[in-house]
Order: sequence, then C-alpha cells, then structure tokens
Amino acid sequence: MKCPRTGTVLKTIKVGGIKVEVSESCGGVFFDNFELDNFKSSKDPRGNALVNHLKQFSKSLPNERERISCPKCSDTVMMRRYYSPLKVIEIDECPGCAGIWLDTGELEKMQDNELSERELALLRAYMVEKNTAPTIDSPKHRFMPTQESSRMEKVLELAMNVVRWY
Ligand SMILES: [Zn+2]
Repeated sequence: MKCPRTGTVLKTIKVGGIKVEVSESCGGVFFDNFELDNFKSSKDPRGNALVNHLKQFSKSLPNERERISCPKCSDTVMMRRYYSPLKVIEIDECPGCAGIWLDTGELEKMQDNELSERELALLRAYMVEKNTAPTIDSPKHRFMPTQESSRMEKVLELAMNVVRWY
C-alpha cells in the first residue's frame, strides 16, 4: 500500500496487537474498517502510543485538502466526511472498504475533542430540551455545575453546527 499523499510505501506497524499502515513521509495513517475505534481515545494506551509514533513523521503537505484515492482499493476515491456530530474533524473514508485515512495531526485532534460520557449526557440533555442545536449565545444551563461551565462552553461552541445528534 502506498501513501495517498506522498506516494511512498506505507509501513505496517502493530500497536497493541492491531495492525495499522503508517506513512513515514508525512505522518498520515490508514485504518482498516473499524480499526480506528481502538485508537480514538487519549485514555487508551494504544491511542497514546500511536499518536506519539506518528508525531515523529509529522509534516504538513500542500495537497492536504485534495481528494485522495484509497491506499487499499487504489481506483476508489475516498469521501470526505465529518467524523463526529461535533463537526471538528474531517476524515477521508473509502466507500469501498470503509477504510479511513487520517492526515498528520488528525488523530491527536480527534482525541483532544473526545467528549466524556458526562459531557455527552449533558449535551444530549441540553439538545433534547432545546430541541435544537445549541448556539454560542445560549444561556448557561441550570443543571450545569459552575466548575464545569467553561468546559461545557467549549463543548457547546463545538456543537454549534450540529444538525442531528443521531
Ligand atoms: Zn478502500
């Protein structure tokens, strides 16, 4: 398999028993279907290990916004889509094999924007009550303890563009 950004050969590494394909020329990474689930949390040692491994190859590329072909099924163009309801991270996903390509820094960004169960619950309750996506101007919610409000503000800010929670 070749790096869709640089054309160099991807290196297969094993992290916590799971194989991923790493580009040592740009710090991008390819995951087979569902493999990403094992790495998306910063609390998971595997997630940490992979982010640290990728960092040493990190290089921003001029063609990062260009559409790419799947490293696995090379004649299939990958689709860009938002990773989560919080539209912070765009990922490239193959419509053929459901593999996912992340450019350099994207896994780390994904982990930084991970919401805790409690934050998800607060956000869900907020949205159900408002029956809408929250906006940055929304008044602070009464069930939100003060010490959590600044973090929640960030969460709400991220969620501003949410169209549909599920
Ligand atoms: Zn594919």
